[in-house]
Amino acid sequence: MRNGFDTIKTKVGTGFKEDVARIRAIREAVGPDVKIRIDANQAWSAKEALQIIERLNEFDIELVEQPVKAADIEGLEYVTKNSKVLIMSDESCFNAKDALRLAERRAIDVLNIKLMKCGGIREALKINAICETAGIECMLGCMAEETNIGITAAASLGAAVRNITRADLDATFSLSELPFEGGIGTECTKTLVLPEEPGFGFIGLK
Ligand code: MG
Repeated sequence: MRNGFDTIKTKVGTGFKEDVARIRAIREAVGPDVKIRIDANQAWSAKEALQIIERLNEFDIELVEQPVKAADIEGLEYVTKNSKVLIMSDESCFNAKDALRLAERRAIDVLNIKLMKCGGIREALKINAICETAGIECMLGCMAEETNIGITAAASLGAAVRNITRADLDATFSLSELPFEGGIGTECTKTLVLPEEPGFGFIGLK
């Protein structure tokens, strides 16, 4: 929060009591104005998800990522249609074909695009176009400890596309050094500043 962040994303799914204690502690620590996003990493059944999301939403949750198993699209749709909190897919969508299946049923409110998961910008643009058509906003995510090449590509995509309304691009913050010179650095700030140089702004190896 000291660095100006106004959103936190945290993992849940390790047990009802533990999850409640975790989210309560975070809400008490950050105050009412910070958004809390939670990622269940497929931990719950659809029915469990609805119960626990309702309880956790007493602490004001902005959205829930991947509440049910990746292949349980019916369950995902059930949770989305019955939850007051926004529901986002992660593991349920690797490519445009998956996105189409989710969009056709309106099984999600938001879709998490990761370049490392879908293969690159071309597939990401296809996923985003499907979502935009269906009225589903996208978030950009990343894999832990991605270098600045992946993060710079994702941030560039996010800056260029209107339907991408959220970003979870924090991988470089936890790295002490990066192998490539240029692009986005390791500085932990709310705003990712894109380089002025052509392309993704890489000059070479460090
Ligand atoms: Mg996730």
